[in-house]
Amino acid sequence: MFDNLSGRLEGIVKKIRGKGRLTEADVDEVMKEIRTALLEADVNVTVVRSVCNRIREHAIGATRSQALDPGQQVVKAVNDELTRALGGETLSITYASKPPTVVLMAGLQGSGKTTNSAKLASWFKAQGRQPLLVGADLQRPAAVEQLRTLGAQIDVPVYSDPEDPVLTAHQGLEEAKRLGRDVLIVDTAGRLSIDAEMMEQVRLISGAVDPDYTFLVIDAMTGQDAVQTAEAFHETLKIDGVIMSKMDGDARGGAALSVKEVIGRPIAFASTGEKLNEFEQFHPDRMAGRILG
Ligand code: GDP
Repeated sequence: MFDNLSGRLEGIVKKIRGKGRLTEADVDEVMKEIRTALLEADVNVTVVRSVCNRIREHAIGATRSQALDPGQQVVKAVNDELTRALGGETLSITYASKPPTVVLMAGLQGSGKTTNSAKLASWFKAQGRQPLLVGADLQRPAAVEQLRTLGAQIDVPVYSDPEDPVLTAHQGLEEAKRLGRDVLIVDTAGRLSIDAEMMEQVRLISGAVDPDYTFLVIDAMTGQDAVQTAEAFHETLKIDGVIMSKMDGDARGGAALSVKEVIGRPIAFASTGEKLNEFEQFHPDRMAGRILG
C-alpha cells in the first residue's frame, strides 16, 4: 500500500534534505511534485488542496527563517501533514463502565464486515477481553454460517436468531450479559450499494443495542467510492471509526488518506489480508513514517 506515493515522496525528500538554502522557486517546484504524487495516489482533491496549502505555509516559513536545514523542516511538515490526513492519533478503545462494550459493524456487502468482525473479536481477546459475536446479517444467506466458522477458529461464541436482525441484536446483548461476555460485536447486513432500506435496518439495530463504537468497514480498493460510502453512512449512523479493509490489495492509498478529512473520523484498524491475524490497530504516525521511507 502507498507504494507509488512512497516512491515519489522518497525521491522528493532526497532532493531537498540537506539543502543549505531553499528559495521560493524551490518550494514551488517541490509543491508541484507533492501535489501530483498525492493526486496520482487517488487522494480526494479537496484533501490534496488543504494538505498542500499547509505544507506550503511551513515550507515558505522555512525559506524565510534562515533555519539551518530548511529541507529537513519541509520533510517534517510533509510528515506531519500525512499523519494528520491519516487521522492524527491512534484511536484508543475506552471500555464501557457497565459491560458489555458494544461495537456495531456497518458497511457495504463484500467490504469485509464479517471477516473483520471476527478479526476484531480476536483482537479484543488478545487484550484480555471476552467477546461475543452477533450475526445480525440475515440478508446474505451464508453470512451467519461464515461468522460461526470464524468464531470457532478463534474460540469466540456466536449468537444469532434467524427470525429478525433487530431482535437478534437485542437478544445478543441480553445473551452477553447473561454469559458475562464483556465485549459485544454485532455484524450487520450490507447491500451492494447504499439504499434506504439497508440504512433503516442498521439504524434500528443501532437503536436496539446503543453501541459504544460504530465502526464502518470500507474496502480500500474502491478508492474514492469508499470515501463517498463513508459520507453516506456517516449521515445516518454516528460513525466512530473506520476499519480499512483490503489494504494489502490497494497500492495507491487514496481512501486511507482522504477519509479522516471527509468524515472527521479516524481509521481505527487496518485489515491487510484474508487471514484472521492480518489485522492491526492503525497508527497514523507510523504509517506516515513508512510512506516517507
Ligand atoms: P462482508 O460481505 O462485508 O461481510 O464481507 P466478507 O467479510 O465476507 O469479505 C469479503 C471477501 O473479502 C472475503 O473473501 C474475505 O476473505 C475478503 N477480505 C476481507 N478482508 C480482507 C483483507 O484485508 N484483505 C484481503 N485480501 N481480503 C479480505
